[in-house]
Amino acid sequence: MAKVKVRTGKRFRAKRVESHYDTIVIGSGIGGLANAAFLSLLGKKVCVLEQHYTAGGYTHAYEREGYEWDVGVHYVGEVHKPSTLRRVFDVISEGRLQWAAMDDEYDRVIIADKEYGFVAGRENFANMLVDRFPGEEDVIYQYIDLIRDVSKYTPKFFAGQGMAPWMAGIYNKVRPLLVPKVFYQTTREALESLTQNQELISVLTGQWGNYGQAPADASFLMHALIAKHYLAGGAYPVGGASEIARSIIPTIQKSGGEVFTYADVEEVIIKDNRATGVRMIDGTEISADNVVSNAGFYNTVKKLLPEQTQQQLGVDDWCSQVQRSSAHLCVYAGFKGTAEELGLSSTNLWIYPDGDHEGNLAKYNANPDAEFPLVYISFPSSKDPDWDNRFPGKSTVEIVTPAKMEWFAQWEDSQWQKRGDEYEALKEKFTQRLLEKLFERHPQLRDKLDYCELSTPLSTNWYQKNSAGEMLALDHFVDRFKKPFLHPVTPVKGLYMTGSDVMTAGVGGALMAGMMTSCAMQGRKANQVIKLVKEYKEPSNTTSASDTVQAHP
Ligand SMILES: Cc1cc2nc3c(=O)[nH]c(=O)nc-3n(C[C@H](O)[C@H](O)[C@H](O)COP(=O)(O)OP(=O)(O)OC[C@H]3O[C@@H](n4cnc5c(N)ncnc54)[C@H](O)[C@@H]3O)c2cc1C
Repeated sequence: MAKVKVRTGKRFRAKRVESHYDTIVIGSGIGGLANAAFLSLLGKKVCVLEQHYTAGGYTHAYEREGYEWDVGVHYVGEVHKPSTLRRVFDVISEGRLQWAAMDDEYDRVIIADKEYGFVAGRENFANMLVDRFPGEEDVIYQYIDLIRDVSKYTPKFFAGQGMAPWMAGIYNKVRPLLVPKVFYQTTREALESLTQNQELISVLTGQWGNYGQAPADASFLMHALIAKHYLAGGAYPVGGASEIARSIIPTIQKSGGEVFTYADVEEVIIKDNRATGVRMIDGTEISADNVVSNAGFYNTVKKLLPEQTQQQLGVDDWCSQVQRSSAHLCVYAGFKGTAEELGLSSTNLWIYPDGDHEGNLAKYNANPDAEFPLVYISFPSSKDPDWDNRFPGKSTVEIVTPAKMEWFAQWEDSQWQKRGDEYEALKEKFTQRLLEKLFERHPQLRDKLDYCELSTPLSTNWYQKNSAGEMLALDHFVDRFKKPFLHPVTPVKGLYMTGSDVMTAGVGGALMAGMMTSCAMQGRKANQVIKLVKEYKEPSNTTSASDTVQAHP
């Protein structure tokens, strides 16, 4: 594959848009793109409006100083083997999106001086745990059965998201009778009902960064979905994260639709409680039969709805019932040398000072100079088989840790690169501390560093149009999944929501939200969407996953 420009989408200009579309989608995250692609495959003309300079939301990638980094796609599970997720990606990209399996050891959890390799495949995972916790064999198998059970009952749990809200209301009342009770427990509650072995619990929750909350706060549902999602290993888009949007956009264009960037929507136009279109910040009005917001629940209700509608619906009360997820810091680093020369594998590292995830997070949230509660290190260039063609002789690393928006709030109204010395000094301090974490594991990289920069919650606010630096939209606490307003169908006729907040965060969760919203929009014809997925012919473009896949159940 030749080196391609990382930006995707067409730059918005008032004269480039049509005056009316079947559907307008605000935001080009994977949920929005999936929704737009499904509708396009059903013959609708869809206009996707993305405020950033490139499409993809958290699946976008960016270039700087001769390097390229993803921002929110470090690895995706289940797509390197036959699965519903893979099938949905194939449908919306019409088979264009390819995935490469990571190394068998996709994650390594490092707790103080102990290391636990999470190797693809249920048996490998179980064997590693039994080997390290020989007295806990029964518990380990019970745990694996439990996450399998959660996965089995998940379609039932989320079925209401594809129904009309009144029906979903009734369904969700009887739902507790249809699914195991762990669906309504926190991760810690569910795990402590299996074992009191805190060391084992710390290891089992060693991927908590994937859902952004410590085990005592995160719902077990979210934990189990993530654990199961990666049980057969991880995969990465061939050609980098920007391939996700690049491969889906032609599906949307085929029905006369388009994905516009620099397309900042100011407000949804509502007349007589019906969404009739959107007004852009430059004043351009575009009308549509339906409007879908992929901008996140908070942005949708607090920023995109007219004030009067906000009051009529009581959105402040809704917002008081949910909380926005943690912010994060990320070092984007570029190194001289290929992965082979530098001895880098594709295994993600999850580094913890000790096993007290809740305690460490609380200490750090109270004092940013405290030990990082979690440092996650990803090696994107090692995951992409096409990287060396595009960036010969170079490698990239990303180092992520949680952060609080408050630490950066004083610079909220300043401009990028003009935030002043104090801000730069704070960034530099975090950067050096995070790089040290990398060099502790990979000292050979120390004198190969060529370029690096740190993103803060202000960066997230800028490229996502968030206001709390939140990295995973809303938090995944237990009661979140009972909130009727987190539904694809809103009380405003013709206005829908899609993306993480109507399902779960994660590329897979937001992708499925795109499908659920499409079903909800089709009403009695929802089956047409499901049919597209069911009837898609199995592709054969998986790159290097086949061995891994066949070896593991
Ligand atoms: C650091 C990090 C690492 C992650 N790693 C992984 C991972 O390894 N694997 C995984 O599965 N998931 C990962 N995730 C999570 C995953 O990327 C997201 O949950 C998912 O992509 C969210 O998709 P979405 O459809 O909800 O929309 P988003 O990606 O949130 O997109 C919303 C879009 O709406 C746009 N928008 C907002 N307001 C407006 C407006 N007024 N007008 C126009 N556009 C607007 C935004 O610019 C944005 O593009 C990670 C996230 C982060 C932050």
